[in-house]
Amino acid sequence: MVRRKFRKLSKKEAKAKIKTDGLALENKKKLPQFATSTQTEKQILEIPENILVRDLSAKMNVPVTILIKSLMKNGVLKNINETIDWETAAIAGDELGYEVKLKIKNEKVKTEIKEEKADAKDLIERPPIVTVMGHVDHGKTKLLDAIRKTDVIATESGGITQHIGAYQITFKKKKITFIDTPGHEAFEAMRAHGANITDIVVLVVAADDGIKPQTEEAYEHAKRAGVPVIVAINKIDLPGANIIRTKQQLTEIGLIPEDMGGKTITVPLSAKENQHINDLLNMILLLSEMKQFRANPKKTASAIVVESHLDSSLGPVAHILVQSGTLKKGDFVVVGQTWGKIRLMEDEYKNALQSAEPSKPVKIAGLKELPFFGDALQVVPDEKTAKIVLSDFKKAIKITDKDLSKGKKVIPIVLKADALGSLKAIKDSLKKLETDEVAISIAKEGAGNLSDDDVMMAATVKARVICFKSNVPSGIQKLIESENVTVTQYNVIYDLIDDLKETVAFLMRKEIEVKTARAHVLKIFHTAKSEKIVGIKVLSGKIQKNEKAIILHDDKKIGEGKVLSLQIEKDKVAKLETGKVGGIRMSYEGDIAEGDELEFYKTELK
Ligand code: GDP
Repeated sequence: MVRRKFRKLSKKEAKAKIKTDGLALENKKKLPQFATSTQTEKQILEIPENILVRDLSAKMNVPVTILIKSLMKNGVLKNINETIDWETAAIAGDELGYEVKLKIKNEKVKTEIKEEKADAKDLIERPPIVTVMGHVDHGKTKLLDAIRKTDVIATESGGITQHIGAYQITFKKKKITFIDTPGHEAFEAMRAHGANITDIVVLVVAADDGIKPQTEEAYEHAKRAGVPVIVAINKIDLPGANIIRTKQQLTEIGLIPEDMGGKTITVPLSAKENQHINDLLNMILLLSEMKQFRANPKKTASAIVVESHLDSSLGPVAHILVQSGTLKKGDFVVVGQTWGKIRLMEDEYKNALQSAEPSKPVKIAGLKELPFFGDALQVVPDEKTAKIVLSDFKKAIKITDKDLSKGKKVIPIVLKADALGSLKAIKDSLKKLETDEVAISIAKEGAGNLSDDDVMMAATVKARVICFKSNVPSGIQKLIESENVTVTQYNVIYDLIDDLKETVAFLMRKEIEVKTARAHVLKIFHTAKSEKIVGIKVLSGKIQKNEKAIILHDDKKIGEGKVLSLQIEKDKVAKLETGKVGGIRMSYEGDIAEGDELEFYKTELK
C-alpha cells in the first residue's frame, strides 16, 4: 500500500511520521515499542479539551494505527485527521499505558498562532467578537443596550435601525463586535456546529444576587471553548449590591479577581444607570490587545450564519459574521446547503455595503434558500462552481439517505482513479464488499487529478478520499489540510479493497452492553432541566464518560441517564474507580435521589 502525505515534512516531523505511519506497512511484522497497560506505572499525559488523533498518537509515541484500533475497540471510529475529546483520549490512553489528564489551554490562541505562521504578512488586527452570558435577569440585555448607546454613530443615527444578530460599536477609534443574542444556548449551538466565533465572553453577575447556577454554567461553556472571560458585576446602583461578596463568590468557582491576587478582570458597573460601561469597553480593548485577534482580509471570504429569516420582499435573508477574507457584494457564495449571489449587503444602520471585513456583522440577501444558524458561508468563483458543489452534495445526501433509510451503516467515499477503466473496476469490487448492513456510498467519482471540488465534497459529507493512481496537485494541499480531509493514495487495487474491507468488517461488529461499575448516590448537588450533578461513592468497577447509568431504587430501575463528565472535588477527571468519592454530571430521565444506586454500562463492539 502506498500512502502519501502531501505536506512537506520538517525533519522532526518526518522522524515522527516514520514512527507513526510506518506501521501501516510494518504492523503485521513488528511489535511497536510503547507503554502498555500491563506496566504498573502509567505515564501522565496532559492534553487539551480536544485533540487530533494524529497529534495524540505523536504525544503518546504510539503508532497511529494502534491508537485508531484502540479507539475502534471502544466504539469510536475516527481517522487520523479527526478530533476526539480528552475523555475519549483517556479511555484509549488507559489501554496504551497513559494516564490522560485535561490541560486547560486556550485552543483559540493555538489556532491563531497556526494561522499567523501560515500567512503572517497578510494578517491584520480585527475587532474582537464578544458574547454576553450570565444568569437570567442579571442584566445581559440591558448591558447590550447600554453598550450600544455608547456608540457615536448609533446615537447620531438615532439608534440602530435593524437587528442583524450582532452589532459593532466604535470605542476609542477601535471597533468591537457584540453578538446580539445573549445567553449560552446560542454560544453552545455555534460550538456544536464547530464554529467557535466568540473571542471574549462577558459574564454578567448581578451584585445583589451573586453567582447562580447559570453563571457557573456559562463560565463552564467559556472555559471549555478556551475563551477568556471578563466579569461584569452589574446592578451596583442597587442598595443590596455587594461587590466584595460577589468577588468572593467568583473566587469559589475559580474566577479569581485581579484585586484578589488572581487573573480575572472584573468591572463593577450599572447597565441601567449607565455607570462604568466605558471601563468594561476599555477592558475588552485591553484584552484584545493582549490576545491580538487577527485575520487575513485577502483570503477567500468565509463567514458564519448567526440568524436567518424569510423576508417578504427580499426572500431568504441571512445575518452573518465575516470570519476571514473580505466579503463583497456580487460574490457567489455557498451557504450550508444552499447558494446564491449577494445582491444586497447591509449593516445594522441599513447602510448598503460594498464589502465587509473580518468580524463585521452584515445582513445579506440573494440566497436561493434559507440557510441555518451556524451554517458556514464560503465564497466560490462562480455560479457554476456553486452549483457543482451543491448538486454533488445533494446527490451524496440522497445516496446516503437511501442507505440509511434501509437501516444500513454507510461508508461515504470520494473516489478518484487514473482512468475510467480502473474506476469501473474499483467500483465493481467495492460493490462486492457491501453487505446487508453496510453500504459504501460514493459521494463523488471521477477520473483524473484530485480537484478542489472533490475535497470540498469529501469535507461536506465527511467522506474519505480514495485516489487510485491519480495525482494530488500540490496546489490543493492547503485545502486538504484546512478541511481536515483524509486522502489515501493507492497504486495496487488489492490494497485499496483490503482497507475498505477492514472498515466494513468494523462496522459489521455488533454492539453489546458491558457493565462497568456500581455506585452509591451520596448527594444530589445541583439541578438543571434534565441534568444533575450527583455525588457518589464507587462501590465497584470504573466509571467513564458517555457511559449509560441505570438508576436503581431498592434494586428496581426507576430511571436512566448518561455520564456527561466526572470530577473529584472541583477537578475534572477521566474516570472514577472503586472506593473513590466524586461527582458525575449526568443527563437523566426518571427519578434520582440520595440513597439510590447507579449501575453503569458501556457499549462495546464485538
Ligand atoms: P437578562 O435576562 O440577563 O437579559 O436581564 P435584563 O437585561 O432583561 O434585566 C433584568 C432586569 O434587571 C430588568 O428589569 C432590568 O431593568 C434590570 N437591570 C438590568 N441592569 C440593571 C442595573 O444595572 N441596575 C438595576 N437596578 N437594574 C438593572
